[in-house]
Amino acid sequence: MAKHDLIIIGAGPGGYVAAIRAAQLGFNVGIIEKEAALGGTCVRVGCIPSKALLESSERYAELANFKDHGIELGSIKLDLKSMLARKDKVVRANTDGVAFLMKKNKISVYQGTGEIISAGQVTVHGKEGDTELECDKIIIATGSSVASIPGVSPDGELICTSNEAIDFQEVPGHLVVIGGGVIGLELGSVWKRLGAKVTVLEYFESILPGMDSEIAKEALKLFKKQGLEFHLGARVKGVSSDGKSCTVEIDGKDSVTCDRVLVATGRKPNTEGLGLEKMGLEQDKRGSILVNDQFETSVKGIYAIGDVIPGPMLAHKAEEDGVACVEMLKTGVGHVDYNLVPAIVYTHPEIASVGKTEEALKDAGIAYKKGVFPYMANGRARALGETDGKVKILADAKTDRVLGVHIIGASAGDLIAEAVAAMTFGASSEDIARTIHAHPTLAEIVKEAALGVHGNALHI
Ligand code: NAD
Repeated sequence: MAKHDLIIIGAGPGGYVAAIRAAQLGFNVGIIEKEAALGGTCVRVGCIPSKALLESSERYAELANFKDHGIELGSIKLDLKSMLARKDKVVRANTDGVAFLMKKNKISVYQGTGEIISAGQVTVHGKEGDTELECDKIIIATGSSVASIPGVSPDGELICTSNEAIDFQEVPGHLVVIGGGVIGLELGSVWKRLGAKVTVLEYFESILPGMDSEIAKEALKLFKKQGLEFHLGARVKGVSSDGKSCTVEIDGKDSVTCDRVLVATGRKPNTEGLGLEKMGLEQDKRGSILVNDQFETSVKGIYAIGDVIPGPMLAHKAEEDGVACVEMLKTGVGHVDYNLVPAIVYTHPEIASVGKTEEALKDAGIAYKKGVFPYMANGRARALGETDGKVKILADAKTDRVLGVHIIGASAGDLIAEAVAAMTFGASSEDIARTIHAHPTLAEIVKEAALGVHGNALHI
């Protein structure tokens, strides 16, 4: 029977990164993955393929604006098959990359479904039969999968989840997206840009619940301008399909008929088949595995990280969990600052945030000052033709410490990194304002917003 110091179940960003860090720290690591390709949801069917399609579809949509730049184009044709093939190639480069990293770090990869027998024993149910493994410690990193809503059963055909919506073989005539959250807006944008009519049905009165509401309102305005349709305050209670089209029933409103439905109403932790019930491992109401501040579950020697534990379901958060967890195992010390997990929506423009929203500060009774600077007033943004959006910085009224940064605009996902770094070091808005930002860059919008906290913005 093979023996490892550490067995990790799940080779997504949480699991495979934990495996690499553990190998660096001298552990003999085994990792179990049920899919043939490594990398988890993020790499195979989530972040990476959706970003490949967002990039391709954005380039296609941008062609309409080339005239503004003095460039005349001939006729433009969409070759969806090639676009999807490129996406698959990007995915393969990433899954192969993870396999290379496992090899490089001498990590044993077991293909199959991992079932925990006891704190020191795991069975891998593989295609060729079962393999028994012994270990000192186990990390569960099994991630999450699409959660539907009552009355809606995705069939993978016309009633789809994100897994299928990254691979539609033709552009739907009319796509209804249930859920105005991250997945709904990203994949809704892809198919809108490629020519579909897209209707987003959102339960709440605003999209992107939980985001700073000023930014979410701006996003709604811009997405509407792009032609996405929104029904807010629309609770979907059922979807039916006759194999040709779908009917979406909305509580108290007219139903909507369409060609395809994308269900984007959240995700749920993957815990089935792990043997948790037998071991009495504690879970919360949503099925998330409960852990202490060392990532240890209610069973000694078994740890859990990433989407399968409470907290934001984000690849970068799972990676940080994984690194901190194995560092704690080795040294007793490890750290993740959950107040500073950035969130990014890869629409156009992008939306990015870190720290507290204005609503959260108000609710907590924290006095704050606010600096806002529009893209419109930035020279580089004008040259790029990317004048939509703004940067908003919220700082403590007494100490000036930055408490939250919210951005909607081009490259928001890259600009937020400065805010995260500054906040990690406990920066004040004045620290950001006095940092030299190269000209002409979009980063100057962050500096100007920081200057704006004390009414000192220069270019407005
Ligand atoms: P989400 O929680 O972001 O959005 C779900 C939306 O569905 C919410 O706005 C909710 O109000 C709405 N909803 C729920 N029930 C409804 C109903 N009956 N009728 C109408 N609307 C309803 O979930 P998601 O977009 O599915 O994303 C799932 C997870 O994946 C999230 O945790 C997200 O962070 C993660 N993710 C992240 C990224 C990224 O970081 N860019 C991209 C994709 C997914």
